[in-house]
Amino acid sequence: MPNSNKLITINALQEHSNENPSGVESQNWQYQLSHCIKDFKALCEFLQLEPKNIPFSDHASQEFPLQVPIAFAKRMRKGDYNDPLLLQVLPVAKELVKTPGFVTDPLAEAQAKKLPGLIHKYKHRVLLTLSGACAINCRYCFRRHFPYSENSIASKQWQDILGYLKQDATIEEVIFSGGDPLASSDARLANFMADLAQIPHIKRLRIHTRLPIVIPDRITDKLCQMLNSSPLECVVVVHANHANEFDINVSQAISKLRATGAMVLNQAVLLKGINDTVEAQKALHSSSFSAGALPYYLFVLDAVQGAAHFDIDDQQAQKLMRELQAVLPGYLVPKLAREIPDKPNKTLLSI
Ligand SMILES: *Cc1c(COP(=O)(O)O)cnc(C)c1O
Ligand code: SF4
Repeated sequence: MPNSNKLITINALQEHSNENPSGVESQNWQYQLSHCIKDFKALCEFLQLEPKNIPFSDHASQEFPLQVPIAFAKRMRKGDYNDPLLLQVLPVAKELVKTPGFVTDPLAEAQAKKLPGLIHKYKHRVLLTLSGACAINCRYCFRRHFPYSENSIASKQWQDILGYLKQDATIEEVIFSGGDPLASSDARLANFMADLAQIPHIKRLRIHTRLPIVIPDRITDKLCQMLNSSPLECVVVVHANHANEFDINVSQAISKLRATGAMVLNQAVLLKGINDTVEAQKALHSSSFSAGALPYYLFVLDAVQGAAHFDIDDQQAQKLMRELQAVLPGYLVPKLAREIPDKPNKTLLSI
């Protein structure tokens, strides 16, 4: 996490509330990133909620802090304790319940780590944990216990990674992941991209990011120009779980990405109480398409400690998918999938 992040005061929030368009959202993305809401009371005030009506847990927020950008919080409904965007970010007491089978490293990534910052689990693709920082802390996140400090990529690590990529000609695709790779500056990304473009067997660059959704201003002209001029085929996979996450600013950000020639996809996680109905799923994938992103995967929850209260059993998920398939065109039906350690690819659930 960047240490420049400051706790935003309630006063500062009021100053930057909906009524004041010259608030935080009118500043550049770095400013927005460093002025996320991190204080529970400030979030309640912003959303007109009574703190005492919320099962907030200080302990849960110490383990994995509350963090939400104002641009995202603005899409939450005021006064709604069950808002589907709010529930994704709220640290609650249920997270402290230890559930059998829910562990800190559900994907066994520690084993697949070939170098600090590099995970090579699947053929022809490597995943780089480019940045430990995220703009938003999603409570269901399978990387909530990931030791980012051991996996940060400084220039020494980057040289090692380049060496690894160069000596394995089977690698066709590099995936920038995290954390959120777009929490890195454009200049840093430009250097990485330029180095990758020198490796002849690398054809594709994929960026997995929630930033175009949570701080759409992250899609700068500079970033778009970098994607546009790169010889790599670029794919951007955004991450939205609910139709309400899309607004005009998100649509514009995705349009800018598409104008670079990049393919834009959306992946989501199936979450109890947030998007586990046919209506919510239909709305999610329709809105995603309207904004310019085709549905990719719908993941069942990874069994990460602290997230068991979002879990939906496989049969229910499969039933939901069958119903969804009946009401959406084929190209808007995501692939229901799970990540199982030791498998050579994501595992699709039959429906
Ligand atoms: C998910 C994942 C990928 C990408 O898998 P796709 O099915 O191509 O989207 C690559 N490497 C790792 C380590 C992953 O977890
Ligand atoms: S890695 Fe993605 S899902 Fe996890 S906290 Fe960051 S933005 Fe949210």
